[in-house]
Amino acid sequence: MADPIVNPDGVDSGKGYRGRLAPSPTGRLHLGHAKTFWTAQQRARERGGTLILRNDDLDVQRCKPEFVEGVFEDLKWFGFEWEEGPDCGGPFGPYNQGERRGFYLDVFAKLLDADAIYACRCSRKDVLRALSAPHEGEEEPVYPGACRDAGIEARDSMLPGMVGGRRPLQDADGARINWRFRVPDGETVVFEDGGFGARRFVAGEDFGDFVVWRNDDLPAYHLAVVTDDHAMRITEVVRGQDLLTSTARQLLVYRTLGWEAPAHFHCPLVTDETGQRLAKRHDSLSLKSLREGGADPFSLRS
Ligand code: GLU
Repeated sequence: MADPIVNPDGVDSGKGYRGRLAPSPTGRLHLGHAKTFWTAQQRARERGGTLILRNDDLDVQRCKPEFVEGVFEDLKWFGFEWEEGPDCGGPFGPYNQGERRGFYLDVFAKLLDADAIYACRCSRKDVLRALSAPHEGEEEPVYPGACRDAGIEARDSMLPGMVGGRRPLQDADGARINWRFRVPDGETVVFEDGGFGARRFVAGEDFGDFVVWRNDDLPAYHLAVVTDDHAMRITEVVRGQDLLTSTARQLLVYRTLGWEAPAHFHCPLVTDETGQRLAKRHDSLSLKSLREGGADPFSLRS
């Protein structure tokens, strides 16, 4: 197969530079998020670009309205300003993932037509957590492929996007099914990362077939993020280093869809004194605690 088409420098002659902040409102933001987002904002500003705020609230169980409010509060305090977003609108909305289901169904149908995905009956841990980006320590094991060649037939009448139709979430016997993207085993996915340089990941070794649609009828993270970054005309994705492997997965989805992929710029993770990535448990480094403790956002930015 051909190499993925990648926009090399993040500035597209037609679209200019379009970057995004894509927080998931599953808790309060901490300094690690803020530093990565700050890089995203700086890169957009230096290129005279547009910054989009997208609310990645796919995971309905974990995303709470109070966290959405908190995200806005924290971002504004830190000094973020965006030109498009859930609060101010813009030409490529809606900017809440929870309102973008139609886009995801269209892409699901395209992947189905391209024969790039297959029905899977497994209900493993990776299926359960497929709604969220796999951050450090959350990478799933390579899927052993029990359902890959099983040829599980989904019921015909349930293609997505059909008016009044059901989703293909059951096999011919009525068992619930997820949908997985079939990765080209042995192929090396190579990309030039703006922050880390050339990166290589081998499909089937560094990552395996991944879930794109869950049997509870929710799109998975990889499908949603590719769909939205494309639809929102994002030219460069800036995010944490722990999503480098996810970039390799997502480049395969872009290629299957025949879409140009954005450039990628991954940022080093902010760690605590023991070398662990900052997470919700580091309450003292949440932006809320820092603000309440009287910190000056200016001094936290670099
Ligand atoms: N909302 C996702 C997260 O918080 C976005 C990841 C991405 O940039 O693709 O991890």
